[in-house]
Amino acid sequence: MKTKFIFITGGVLSSLGKGLAAASIGALLKARGLKVTIQKLDPYINVDPGTMNPFQHGEVYVTDDGAETDLDLGHYERYLDQPMSQINNFTSGSIYHSVITKERRGDYLGGTVQVIPHVTDEIKSAILSVARKEEDVAIIEIGGTVGDIESLPFLEAIRQLRSDLGKENVLYIHLTLVPYIKAAGEIKTKPTQHSVKELRSIGIQADIILCRCEVDLDQEIKAKIALFCNVDPDAVFTAKDVQSIYEVPLMLYDEGLDQKVAILLKLPAKNPNLQDWKNLVHRLHHFKRQVRIAIVGKYVNLKESYKSLHEAIVHAGLESESHVALSYVNSEELTEQNLKKKLEGAHGILVPGGFGARGIEGKLMAVRHARENRIPFLGICLGMQCAVIEFARNVLLLQDADSQEFNPDTAHPVIYLMTEWYDFRNQAVQTRDTSSHKGGTMRLGAYPCVLRADTRAMQAYRTRQVTERHRHRYEFNMKFAADFEAAGMLLSGLSPDEKLVEIIELKDHPWFLGCQFHPEFRSNPMRPHPLFRDFVRAAELMTASSEGRDSLAEQAEDVEFDGAA
Ligand code: GLN
Repeated sequence: MKTKFIFITGGVLSSLGKGLAAASIGALLKARGLKVTIQKLDPYINVDPGTMNPFQHGEVYVTDDGAETDLDLGHYERYLDQPMSQINNFTSGSIYHSVITKERRGDYLGGTVQVIPHVTDEIKSAILSVARKEEDVAIIEIGGTVGDIESLPFLEAIRQLRSDLGKENVLYIHLTLVPYIKAAGEIKTKPTQHSVKELRSIGIQADIILCRCEVDLDQEIKAKIALFCNVDPDAVFTAKDVQSIYEVPLMLYDEGLDQKVAILLKLPAKNPNLQDWKNLVHRLHHFKRQVRIAIVGKYVNLKESYKSLHEAIVHAGLESESHVALSYVNSEELTEQNLKKKLEGAHGILVPGGFGARGIEGKLMAVRHARENRIPFLGICLGMQCAVIEFARNVLLLQDADSQEFNPDTAHPVIYLMTEWYDFRNQAVQTRDTSSHKGGTMRLGAYPCVLRADTRAMQAYRTRQVTERHRHRYEFNMKFAADFEAAGMLLSGLSPDEKLVEIIELKDHPWFLGCQFHPEFRSNPMRPHPLFRDFVRAAELMTASSEGRDSLAEQAEDVEFDGAA
């Protein structure tokens, strides 16, 4: 079968959940036994989101092959349960970058290089590149909102692809907002009509309209939208707000969306097997207990910045039937005086990844609190580095121990910038320019890690070697290895050449572990990540003995625990 393409555009406004819709449609088609892939096209000029502030753009998601991508790729991986890579995310920046590179090389043989056809051709070949492994269906999500200047070249490219590939191989799905005016009890279709018209004015006739709405749209409203938007009456679907993002695939299935897609694209008729999704949603609604985890970080105001982390914790709770209530604690606001109050009631403390010195002292205080009070702790990337610095300062008594990221001149650089390391993926030595501590290459993507026997790490993974994804510049400094080990901080995961420390843990603590990689990128709703699973389990054990702490937490007005599901 030739690959069929589904293009998903968005209208009216952003943040309607296009990524989740794309991922959910992918999950439904995969459940029908089809080979599916997904790609995101982002209209911004950055070549990738690696340079973007998570405050603005949300989390930077990292793939096995080391691509820094849009966070929607995280949804794609979690819903499709298959790895994404560099070819699953393109930006206007990356497209222009290759067009300009070709122009400089003289590839265009003296021609005038233009948006049409040169940029649009580049976009088309990016789209086609995602289906090179003979996928049955490729879902292409176009970032931005129809009507934006930036996304025009992408829309022109997908318009052309319908004639290039044949009508029967291309489907356009348009996601819009259908506002429900509570006071009047009315549903408004006008914004949708306008947005579909806008799309038509650039030559694209939507085949399916997916309407994000607070309430279910009845047949009458759907018929009205179909009439005005020129689609089949049974091609209008409600994407109703749901409590958990994992309910979206089943919600769209109940609407019959995947069936309509299959009919329009002439895909083999087959009922999807959605048992796993049904079990998952059942568990989401039948939690047995509540576990409280405090996340102590810098970007605490924006949940989007810790998207995968948030999901990984939810996944871990799902397995043990625990609802995990997350409290985001801003490390910049932590002081010796308010520390106890802010972290009171937390059954587990997590310090996530991050860059820069801001808020570090607060993170170190949170680590110390977890270590001394035997509260389960998980430190991720920068979080592990903080655990190392805290231990060096307060247990090894190296007062000025630090990371060179925060203090390049420290006499005890327990975390330092490596100039050279062996890249197991590319089987080559990588070197780094250390003239600037801010710049320089990062260690990116999947790297192997060998686990030491009789450690929490090994207990969690139950295997000798694992592969995990990285995104950082600094590393544990092996010069101090013996001192740490002697004082009770075990180096429980190392690179195969034993030069890089990937996991640390405390010997004498219920559960205290730090990893240099980002395990959250590998967690799946059906298969929680072993480290998150064991961390949440350790936190669960705390719930049994912490009634007193719980009641105190309820009194602490600063601590806001909200639903994680
Ligand atoms: N800033 C640290 C480093 O570059 C940690 C990065 C991270 O947490 N992703 O090594």
